[in-house]
Amino acid sequence: MGIYNNYIDGKFISSESKKTFPSINPSNEKVLGYFQESNKKDLDNAVKSAWKGYKLWNNVPAPKRGDILLNISKLLKENKERLSKILTMEMGKIISEARGDVQEAIDVFEYMAGEGRRLFGITTPSELREKFCMTTRRSLGICALITPWNFPIAIPSWKISAALICGNSVIFKPSSDTPLCAYELVKIFDEAGIPGGVVNLITGKGEEIGNEIIKNKNISAISFTGSREVGEHILKNSYTHRVGLELGGKNPIIIMDDANLDLALDGVIWGGFGTTGQRCTAASRVIIHKNIKKEFEDKLVKRTKKLRLGDGLKEGIDVGPLIAERAISKVDFYVSSGKKEGAHLLCGGKKINKKGFFYEPTIFSNVKKEMRIAQEEIFGPVISLINVKNLDEAIDICNSVEYGLSSSIYTENIKNAFKAIEKIEAGITYVNSSTIGSEVHLPFGGVKGTGNGIREGGFLGIDEFSEIKTVYIDYSGKLQKAQIDLVRIK
Ligand code: NAD
Repeated sequence: MGIYNNYIDGKFISSESKKTFPSINPSNEKVLGYFQESNKKDLDNAVKSAWKGYKLWNNVPAPKRGDILLNISKLLKENKERLSKILTMEMGKIISEARGDVQEAIDVFEYMAGEGRRLFGITTPSELREKFCMTTRRSLGICALITPWNFPIAIPSWKISAALICGNSVIFKPSSDTPLCAYELVKIFDEAGIPGGVVNLITGKGEEIGNEIIKNKNISAISFTGSREVGEHILKNSYTHRVGLELGGKNPIIIMDDANLDLALDGVIWGGFGTTGQRCTAASRVIIHKNIKKEFEDKLVKRTKKLRLGDGLKEGIDVGPLIAERAISKVDFYVSSGKKEGAHLLCGGKKINKKGFFYEPTIFSNVKKEMRIAQEEIFGPVISLINVKNLDEAIDICNSVEYGLSSSIYTENIKNAFKAIEKIEAGITYVNSSTIGSEVHLPFGGVKGTGNGIREGGFLGIDEFSEIKTVYIDYSGKLQKAQIDLVRIK
């Protein structure tokens, strides 16, 4: 167990504050290491470094930037097992899921490396003769990336890879629950040949260093993934107007009476209890056709009771711990609220009495759409079952929340599937698959309270980190006036 530094101007250095904070393994509450509690002076140093890094990096041709991103992808692959174990120890997700988290980073760096040879603009005809029209992309400058703990390698990688390929430099502020993952990621960048100053890591508390970042006038863009509450605070208080927000979800799975029930069962267990329910795309509402309610509930409870909780590094574990004690209190609060509002607790509902932040996988039935457990993001292993008469009612319930990230329908009827795709208010809809499973070459993001319209990953991922310039080239040799000089057809 050691003390880990910030990474500024290509060097690992301690904070000017001379203060550190611990990172804790949520499976056994042991300290994994101590990290820098950064302050404004550290941020000023990081900004200075990032500006120097920006001038250099923006001048590197994009395909060459891509070469370094590809190196990062390769190094991540070589270090996959080691990083996955660190990730499980620090964040708690079971080792197979941690491998998925790291694999996502490997994939996105590879994908964005290729973007270095695309970064497409458009060409289009002019309304005037001998005039050429196109768009090109420009970098933004220094991008501050503020990230959560639940995908501590994958989410920073989506943002960093896209920001870098577009020619920006980066100040990376990870969650103070997972600074070790961030540190290890940055070490890989250093090894891969990212020049000093291009990526800078500063660790510390959101309310302190996070707030300094958002107020800083030299930062051109902020990309934030996290809770809705903090996202709204950033939107209101940040100096730059260029803010990308990826916020929470209250994601539904609809199960129709024509669905393959065993397939739906797998999807609900995975969506509801995978990552201990701590995914922005977790399935926290299951909307079931009344004809199959009893059969599905019985099967679901039986399967849920068999789930094995424990340290995710151990073989055979299905569900890891919650991230921290505060998460246990939050889940407890919603379990009490569900009971008070009249939902029926089918199983779970208690913290496990041992070291670590473990909570029983919990299912409520007879949930009504207005109840808090059906409206608010719990971010824990709690599934609310809601009964409906038909698909219209199911879709109405899907759309009755403030969020709109992921969604799913299980049905064998193509008409039901297409209706759900068309009518559900969400950034993502799965058919006959759970609410989880994004791939890096497709856009990721939500509607309504889940964000502000940006998409990460895939071919739209670069929009968040580049500015479009429209270019007109007139080669007629005379002054041509758009909308005023009307071209004659002769
Ligand atoms: P959080 O909002 O508490 O923290 C996110 C980040 O913001 C952390 O780095 C934190 O230190 C920082 N922060 C906190 N206060 C700040 C402030 N005042 N100014 C600047 N930065 C500040 O979220 P979390 O608990 O880390 O993550 C869980 C949330 O993230 C859930 O709501 C989940 O749905 C959401 N999430 C969304 C997506 C998505 O893509 N839509 C993906 C993963 C997680």
